[in-house]
Amino acid sequence: MSRIAYVNGRYLPFRDAKVHIEDRGYQFADAVYEVCEVRGGRLIDERRHMARLERSLAELRIAMPMSPRALGVVLREVVAKNRIGYGLVYLQISRGVARRDLASPPQVSPTVVATARALNLTRNETLAAKGIAVVSVPDNRWGRVDIKTVGLLPNALARQTAIDRGARDAWFVDKDGIVTEAASANAWIVTPDGKLVTRHADHAILRGITRAVTLDVIKAQGLTVEERGFQLEEAYAAREAFETSATQVVMPVVSIDGHMIGDGKPGPVATALRREFHRYAETG
Ligand code: PLP
Repeated sequence: MSRIAYVNGRYLPFRDAKVHIEDRGYQFADAVYEVCEVRGGRLIDERRHMARLERSLAELRIAMPMSPRALGVVLREVVAKNRIGYGLVYLQISRGVARRDLASPPQVSPTVVATARALNLTRNETLAAKGIAVVSVPDNRWGRVDIKTVGLLPNALARQTAIDRGARDAWFVDKDGIVTEAASANAWIVTPDGKLVTRHADHAILRGITRAVTLDVIKAQGLTVEERGFQLEEAYAAREAFETSATQVVMPVVSIDGHMIGDGKPGPVATALRREFHRYAETG
């Protein structure tokens, strides 16, 4: 079965799904995106993803091309047409097509693209049962990574650096030595006295939807959480570490820069958060 993509109002086989070479997403990364987990063919946390999308677009002064409800219909249609049970749905909205010029064109309609992809649940669970290794890299991104733009070159290079060093992911560290987040996830530790710590959300991290739901799970379980920066040294000495994102949910981290975290196995806190997560996430 050929994969189907949505492009500006049409559902097309991948080979026919195209955008113009002067699309500003292609030329300037003048575009935003969302990735939603799909489970049992349903979108997880659609409402929160749509709210973040609206915010990202507003920050870039790109008009919402259609209502969140209509976008939701498109996403569900893409999921259904590609027969995705478990996987992800990707939505990208660029400012649109215009003659190449840095200044925003006055009249342009956004380009809307959506795709969906199956993921291997067993492989994800196997990975989570083992935990992943991460390495630290300097955070050399721009100052507004809270806007979910497609400008992900530093993230892509960081991920490749991690792979080249035999790890699975990279954690960004800012000029003050504080861990900001992972290449495509939020970073967390559990301190030796059992407190959960993740960096406070401002312009220097993406306000992950999985991070927000995980905070709900933590509060419901009566655990203590601190939203603050933490240095690598504190992470190396942590009892547990993990990262959160829509496609990984809660992924235990068992090594940072070659330092074994805890006993080198996924810890009880991360494991419990992962197990409980979907009781707190919204299933559409
Ligand atoms: N941080 C970055 C840089 C990301 O790219 C992502 C997801 O793509 C996240 C955090 C996690 O966000 P979410 O939980 O909404 O998937």
